[in-house]
This record gives sequence, C-alpha cells and structure tokens, in this order.
Amino acid sequence: MMEILGYVLYPGQEDYKTRWIKEEDYDEVVCEECHSLLVDDYFNDDVKLQKMKYDFLWVADGANIFVTEKVKQFIIDNGYTGIELRPLRTMEGVYNLKCNNLITIEKELLDYGKKCNKCGEYTSITTGQYSIFYKNKWYYTYVKEKVKDGFFITDLKFGEHTYKSPELIIGTETYKKMKKAHLKGFIAAPLVKE
Ligand SMILES: [Zn+2]
Repeated sequence: MMEILGYVLYPGQEDYKTRWIKEEDYDEVVCEECHSLLVDDYFNDDVKLQKMKYDFLWVADGANIFVTEKVKQFIIDNGYTGIELRPLRTMEGVYNLKCNNLITIEKELLDYGKKCNKCGEYTSITTGQYSIFYKNKWYYTYVKEKVKDGFFITDLKFGEHTYKSPELIIGTETYKKMKKAHLKGFIAAPLVKE
C-alpha cells in the first residue's frame, strides 16, 4: 500500500455553465494570445451561480471554488489560516474560497504545452508522469512531503487557458475532519509517495 501524504480536491459539484470572468473584464485580465487568466486575485462578487446543492462547488474558468457557511464554520472551528472567504453579493451564505498557503510541488515530469510568446505562461499544464492509475483510481506523486493539517494550493497552475488554476490540497488529518463534519461536493484524490 502506498503511503498517503495528503489529498488533492477535485469537483464533486460543478457549475460549468456559469462564467466567473465577466465579459467586460475579459480583455483586461486574460492574455489575448493564449487566454490564460493573468490576475491571480481576480474576483467577481456579481457571479450568478446555479443552485448550491453541496458544500463545495467549482466554476471552470479560473477554476474558482465556492463554499457554504458550513465550510466557513469548519475552517473557523479548526483554526485554519491563510484562507480568504469572500462573500458574494448575489448569494447569501456562499463564499469564494481563496487559499494563500503555497505548497512547492515537483515540476520536472509535468506535461507542458507550448510557452506563450505574449505572457510567458504555458498554454497547458497537466500532471504528466506524476499520475498513477491503480485499481480504478488516480493517485498523484508531485508532492514529496506529508501535507500538514489545513488547506494549501500548488505553486503552479494546472489546466489550460482561462481554466488554469492551482490545485487545492488538504492534509490527511483535514480529510478525516471533513468526512466527520459531513462536508460534501468534492472528490479527494490521494497524493502518495512512490
Ligand atoms: Zn499568453
């Protein structure tokens, strides 16, 4: 059995119809050449999400994560720091989760698209040789150390175009606590030691 160092969270609930980047902001915040979002703290409090059924919800562009009051309380109760919960004007009790705790990941064996001449970003980045498919499940190996209790983001954005964003990572302790608190709407893929 592989040793689990932490988990990367993937959408268990998605709202891919809603656009996070406002049309009028697009030219200003997105590279005209490769369509990468160039502003890390872009925030649109006017976003009109579809129904929030679970506690976590992902919007594809900018891969923004939205959470419920229950998650906010969970974060407060556990004393987790480095997380901004930005309220939406359009939805009571729903927050945009912005995590500022960086985790340094291994980058050598990722799959890189071509580098954009305009902004210098890669057109796409995927997990490449850090992914293992084993018994119907994906595991990732780009983290080398045990992840501490709390929420973190990778120091690199995965995906492509405006869909590029850091991955949200949690510790194994955090995962247990989230399960116990019955938080829903995410899929936790294990980060393992090879
Ligand atoms: Zn570009």
